[in-house]
Amino acid sequence: MRDGFQREIDYLRISLTDRCNFRCVYCMPPEGVEKRSHSEMLTLEEIEEIARAAVELGVRKLRITGGEPLVRRGAVELCRRLGRIPGVEDLSLTTNGALLAPLAAELRETGVRRVNVSLDTLDPEKFRAITRGGELADCLAGIRAALDCGMDPVKLNVVLIGGFNDGEIPALAALSASWGVEVRFIELMPIGHTVPFGPEAYLPVDEVLRRLEGWTAEGTEGVARMFRLPDGGRIGLISPLSCRFCADCNRLRLTADGCLKPCLHSREEISVRGLHGEALRSAILAAAAAKPADHGPPSEQCRSCSQRDMNRIGG
Ligand code: SAM
Ligand code: SF4
Repeated sequence: MRDGFQREIDYLRISLTDRCNFRCVYCMPPEGVEKRSHSEMLTLEEIEEIARAAVELGVRKLRITGGEPLVRRGAVELCRRLGRIPGVEDLSLTTNGALLAPLAAELRETGVRRVNVSLDTLDPEKFRAITRGGELADCLAGIRAALDCGMDPVKLNVVLIGGFNDGEIPALAALSASWGVEVRFIELMPIGHTVPFGPEAYLPVDEVLRRLEGWTAEGTEGVARMFRLPDGGRIGLISPLSCRFCADCNRLRLTADGCLKPCLHSREEISVRGLHGEALRSAILAAAAAKPADHGPPSEQCRSCSQRDMNRIGG
């Protein structure tokens, strides 16, 4: 499946739910999200049907995300079904890690071979503050369990926030060598309506390189610029808004309420709820065709144009 700019679209990110057991300050309002009725959300069967249709059209990679995907009942069973779809070469998960420890081995068995876990700080108090109540120990146990059951790679997603965790850059980067994980620093995005940070929080990820010594550049891998550290660790830098990777964008996003988003930062959405067969395939092709060349500079006081908060898109 190709878009209007001849980019191969082979990657579908599937949000299982808008809900989350955390309330990260850059992602959700403190009161959480409005509870929506089950009938507004895709069932697990519908998600599987849409994924199958996308795979028939050329999608090879599926990533399960949210909200927090592991709070959705049946998440592991869905992974099992997605892992069995002929043509799926890569099934992965993005999670905050809090519920991962007891599920990691079973998920690995369903075909989830790799996982990204969000981890913004190594200080339990700061962790509680940024997640509004999360326990660092649970997240660390989830990472440990993912490593122990052989998920590979395990990537840690760190949202870089000036004045919050920039002082921890060396400690977070050192986890790469000591735990055998890849540590990815991601620029804070001005998306949604819930970002209470001032301009100093929006650090360019190149700040990471200024705080580390002796690194060597290793080129790009997907959306990340990769660097090797003197201790053998590997870090990735991701600049979502500076448009470094739009030219290679290969993805569509499926929201939990059944919309395909051609671009993370655009308002455009194509509903696939209730569609089957040829109508479903046509809608998926239309979403690919609607992908813009790039998301351009963010507008409206420098904010993303997406009308959804990140928990409703899946990152
Ligand atoms: N709950 C899961 C988690 O936290 O990993 C999956 C969904 S979460 C929306 C996906 C990713 O988006 C996380 O790594 C999170 O840190 C990131 N994210 C959320 N809001 C963001 C923002 N405003 N700027 C940058 N990254 C953001
Ligand atoms: Fe939940 Fe992930 Fe958003 Fe944090 S970033 S509130 S863990 S969905």
